[in-house]
Amino acid sequence: MSISSHSDKFAAPRRDSAGRASLVGMDLPQMQALMVEEGLPAFRAKQIWNWIYQRGKTKFDDMANLPKDLRAKLNEGYVIDRPKVITEQKSEDGTIKWLLGMSDGQQVEMVFIPTPTRGTLCVSSQVGCTLTCKFCHTGTQPLVRNLGPHEILQQVMYAKDVLKEWPSDGEKEGRDLTNIVMMGMGEPLYNYDNVAAALRICMHQDGLGISKRHITLSTSGVVPQIVQCGEELGVNLAISLHAPNDDLRSQIMPINNKYPLRELLGACRKYPGVSQMRRITFEYVMLDGINDQDEHAREMAQLLRGLDCKINLIPFNAWEGSGYQCSPMERIEAFARVLEKAGYDAPIRRPRGRDILAACGQLKSESQRQKRSS
Ligand code: SAH
Ligand code: SF4
Repeated sequence: MSISSHSDKFAAPRRDSAGRASLVGMDLPQMQALMVEEGLPAFRAKQIWNWIYQRGKTKFDDMANLPKDLRAKLNEGYVIDRPKVITEQKSEDGTIKWLLGMSDGQQVEMVFIPTPTRGTLCVSSQVGCTLTCKFCHTGTQPLVRNLGPHEILQQVMYAKDVLKEWPSDGEKEGRDLTNIVMMGMGEPLYNYDNVAAALRICMHQDGLGISKRHITLSTSGVVPQIVQCGEELGVNLAISLHAPNDDLRSQIMPINNKYPLRELLGACRKYPGVSQMRRITFEYVMLDGINDQDEHAREMAQLLRGLDCKINLIPFNAWEGSGYQCSPMERIEAFARVLEKAGYDAPIRRPRGRDILAACGQLKSESQRQKRSS
């Protein structure tokens, strides 16, 4: 396995088959430059941005305040596109999983998880993942490529379409989509530039307007980008910890050989803006007989001392061929009690969308499954 930065893995072209370029993912200065290039006044950029991100329009002809000739020009050379939906599956608990097709035919999965108080969209950052965490289904799929900013944003915008969250969809009470988690396929910090470009537009008040407090980025621990992410984006941080010492962590997460716990936790301690109000989340998958003993919990309590954090205990979602089982619920509860006694919040994550394989670590595109079986 190579552990390197994957900026060399190109993202899909922004052009459709007719050669029209996608405007989704373009930031405001880029859009202004484009207007100037087209011999148009720069203020048009803001108007178009507004139609795209605040109103969810996909047709230039719906952009009433643009002159007719500009609309014609835009129709000729540009497109405001959405991913193609390959499948949509609804779980009995309300979770929805989509398999989305990108313009070059690659596929990623996206999941929407509603609860009574919030709606969380789990977004993918790469097609597959180069890291090979032993318990993760996505890790068995070789990385094909990074997603570009447009492909990351298109996921969120498509979800807004389906959930009817644009102003023209009419009044509704509250909003379904309140939170975004970068916890789908891929390692977001191995595709940092594209993820950052997409999240900036997500957070921009004239963009999708989703506050950084409602966005969480989950990483397996790519240390150099952790602090950068905190400084530049300021989103919430979740760390896939899964083991309380280097020996065990390296066994189940090979990235630990490159960035061991001392460095990882050093970066967490430096993460800007962390406080009791804004804690780091540590994710800990409960693997039967591997990392689930009381001594592991005690070791973790020691390791995380002094960090404003909470520990999410995630029942392992078993998949064929992983070689692991989920710890029994009594064991998970006992493990949580040790952490709570040591002063940590250690909620047990309720598995969602189990019937549609939408749960953590089970995101893997149908295309890969089909290729394998053939
Ligand atoms: N690559 C990033 C984000 C995607 S994975 C990361 O690793 O953090 C999202 C979360 O699901 C991670 O915490 C990951 O460790 C966890 N996960 C992976 N496989 C799982 C499985 N089979 N059961 C439960 N959680 C799993
Ligand atoms: Fe990649 Fe995250 Fe899965 Fe590890 S847990 S293989 S980093 S998606």
